[in-house]
Amino acid sequence: MTSLGLYVHVPFCRSKCDWCAFASEVGAGRSEAWLERILHQLETPPSHDSRWATVYLGGGTPSLLSPEQLDRLLAKIGERRLPEAELTLEANPESLTAEHLAVLWQGGGTRLSLGIQTFQEALLKRHGRPTRHRHLDHARKLAEAWPGQLSLDLICGLSGQTAQGQRRDLERALDWEPDHLSFYSLTVEPGTPLAAREARHPSVLPGDKGDSWWLEGRDFLEAHGYAAYEVSNFARPGAESRHNQRYWALEPWWGVGPSAVSFLPSDRGWSYWTQTSALTPWLEGTPPDREIPTALELAKDRLLAGLRRRTGVASAPWKPLLPETLKAWEGRILEQDGRLFLSRETFPFLDAFLRQAFGELDGRPEFR
Ligand code: SF4
Repeated sequence: MTSLGLYVHVPFCRSKCDWCAFASEVGAGRSEAWLERILHQLETPPSHDSRWATVYLGGGTPSLLSPEQLDRLLAKIGERRLPEAELTLEANPESLTAEHLAVLWQGGGTRLSLGIQTFQEALLKRHGRPTRHRHLDHARKLAEAWPGQLSLDLICGLSGQTAQGQRRDLERALDWEPDHLSFYSLTVEPGTPLAAREARHPSVLPGDKGDSWWLEGRDFLEAHGYAAYEVSNFARPGAESRHNQRYWALEPWWGVGPSAVSFLPSDRGWSYWTQTSALTPWLEGTPPDREIPTALELAKDRLLAGLRRRTGVASAPWKPLLPETLKAWEGRILEQDGRLFLSRETFPFLDAFLRQAFGELDGRPEFR
């Protein structure tokens, strides 16, 4: 048996949020064609004995599928899902229904991940999100009745956000008593409407203030029993996302749907496979691109993904490869029980650490 994570990309959204660079189109008019093709892809997994240890239905907005479509998808996934598998559905408040949740629970769902981003209607409107207060109220009732785990997504540092508003968003999130929170700093992705707006009016985002709000938010969440087990993810004990931990440990996963990435072993070592992101060529059966990372690229990927976690990476392989970087960061990168990890204070400086570490890896004879 080959145990894998399964990611299914649902490429539909009700409208496009101005910060978003994910592959999705507005409206779910082509969801039936998408589902047919996904069901076909799931017929031919990476190996005949593939079994899903974790499943993540992400997007896009998976709750734009009808409950009947979700049911068909979960039935197909169930043919290879391990009994103890974690199964997450991403959903947005304005499209989630009680019927979705009934189907999800029946189909083996264990986690509901709700894209809240902010509870402030003015900010939701400003960023092009269709969620309104009435949707949040409705989703809260649904979440209270949901028997599985609940995760909420919040963004820190939206345009128009204030220190007080940011704090209030976190307080309101905790009122929902989630098991897990993803608390991300807003990233301005090139090519998005937000990037264009920021280029025209560089003052639309809070900038450095957003960083300090995030640090305050982290302290707040930790003080309320949510451990920062990854740079942007917080969980009550035992509620860490098993699927996302596969990504950070570079354990193999299979991704289906437009833009989905897979990481799989093969006779030529590890490969990344990336499906085309545009829906039409994907529906027409365009094969995924394959990339075989070099040993150096794979080492960098492992270090980057591993150090995102509070538990970091095994020390033994890295200490001989990074003597200079580890010396320069002494006291900020720590070692305990055979693991190297960034100190709590250094976590926000992961990028700076990686820049130096990658420079050192580039010069190592092992990778020439
Ligand atoms: S709902 Fe999510 S995937 Fe869709 S546009 Fe907004 S951020 Fe992107």
